[in-house]
Amino acid sequence: MKIIMLGAPGAGKGTQAKKIAEKYGIPHISTGDIFRANIKGGTELGMKAKSYMDQGQLVPDEVTIGMLLDRISQADCENGYVLDGFPRTIPQAESLTASLKERGEKMDYAIDVDVPDEAIVTRMGGRRACLGCGATYHIVFNSTKVEGICDACGQELVLRDDDKPETVQKRLTVYHDQTQPLIDYYKNEGILHTVDGTQDLNEVFKDIVNILGV
Ligand code: ADP
Ligand code: ADP
Ligand code: ZN
Repeated sequence: MKIIMLGAPGAGKGTQAKKIAEKYGIPHISTGDIFRANIKGGTELGMKAKSYMDQGQLVPDEVTIGMLLDRISQADCENGYVLDGFPRTIPQAESLTASLKERGEKMDYAIDVDVPDEAIVTRMGGRRACLGCGATYHIVFNSTKVEGICDACGQELVLRDDDKPETVQKRLTVYHDQTQPLIDYYKNEGILHTVDGTQDLNEVFKDIVNILGV
C-alpha cells in the first residue's frame, strides 16, 4: 500500500501518518524529518536544507527529489510506505510518478487532510516536536504523559524554529502557491480522498481507515 499525505503545514499529516504506519506495518517517510536529522548530524545535505527551512521556503527540488527516490528504493519499502511532506511541488509529483512507472508501480492513495488556515496557526503555536523519533504533540490537543518528554522515545521535545507565527504564515503562502495544486494533480490520477482534519485526531484516523480498509 503506497500512500501520500497531502495538506497544509500543521494539518496533522505527520500525526496521521504515524498511526497509518503502525496499523498497516509500513514505513512512515517524512522528508521534513530526514532534513532535520541531517541538520542535527551536520551533514552537507542538512546545511543545504537549513537556510530554506528556517525561512519557511521549500528546499529545492534538485536536492529533495533524489533524496526521496533513494529512500523509497530501500528494502523496507517493498510492501509500501506512507509519504508525509512529499511531494510538495508539481515537478516532485511528476518525478515520483515517472520513477514508479519505470518499475511498473503506482501510488494507491493520496489523502488530503483538510484544515483551514485559521486553525493551522493555533495548532502550530502549541506543537512540540521530538527530533529523536519524529513524533509531534500538542500542548492542548495531544499532550504527553510527562510534560516536555516524548512518550515514544523519552527525548526532550522542542518548539521548532519554523513554527514561529511569522514563519508559519510564510509556509502557508508557500503551501497555497506550490503544494495545493497537487490536490488537482491527484484528483486527475483518480486516487484523491479528502478527510476533514478539523475533527479530533482519532476521528480523522477513523475516516482514513474507512478509505484504506481494515
Ligand atoms: P510540516 O509537517 O509542518 O508541514 P515538514 O516537517 O514536512 O513540516 O517540513 C519542514 C520544512 O522542510 C518545510 O517547510 C520545507 O522547508 C522542508 N521540506 C520538507 N519536505 C519538503 C519537500 N518535499 N520539498 C521541499 N521542501 C521540503
Ligand atoms: P503536519 O505533519 O501536517 O505538519 P502535525 O501532525 O505535526 O502536522 O500536527 C500539527 C500540530 O497539530 C501538532 O501539534 C499536533 O499534535 C496537532 N494536531 C494534529 N492533529 C490534530 C487534530 N486532529 N486536532 C488538533 N490538533 C491536532
Ligand atoms: Zn520521540
